[in-house]
Amino acid sequence: MYLFDAFSYDGLKRFWRCRYKRECKTRVHTGITDLIFLKNINNHTHDSDTAKVEVNIAVYNIKKRARETLEPTSTVMNYCISGLSQASKVSNY
Ligand SMILES: [Zn+2]
Repeated sequence: MYLFDAFSYDGLKRFWRCRYKRECKTRVHTGITDLIFLKNINNHTHDSDTAKVEVNIAVYNIKKRARETLEPTSTVMNYCISGLSQASKVSNY
C-alpha cells in the first residue's frame, strides 16, 4: 500500500511512498489521473503487498471510468484489469 506523497514539480506525476516509509525507501511515480506505474524506486524491505496496491489502483480506475463513460460495468472491469499482473488477479480481495 502506498500513501500519496506529493505532485512532481511539473505537475505531471504523483509521487507515492510505501506506507512503511520509516523503514522502507520504496517510492513510485504514477500519472496524475490514471494511476499507472511510471517508475518504481527501490525495493520493499519487508513482505511486498504489490498485489493489493495494484488492486487499489484498479478500483480507482474502474470508478473513474465508470463515471466518465456509459459502458456497462463488466466492460469497464475488463478494460481496467487487463493491465494488472497475474499476481493481483488471483488474490482474494
Ligand atoms: Zn515498502
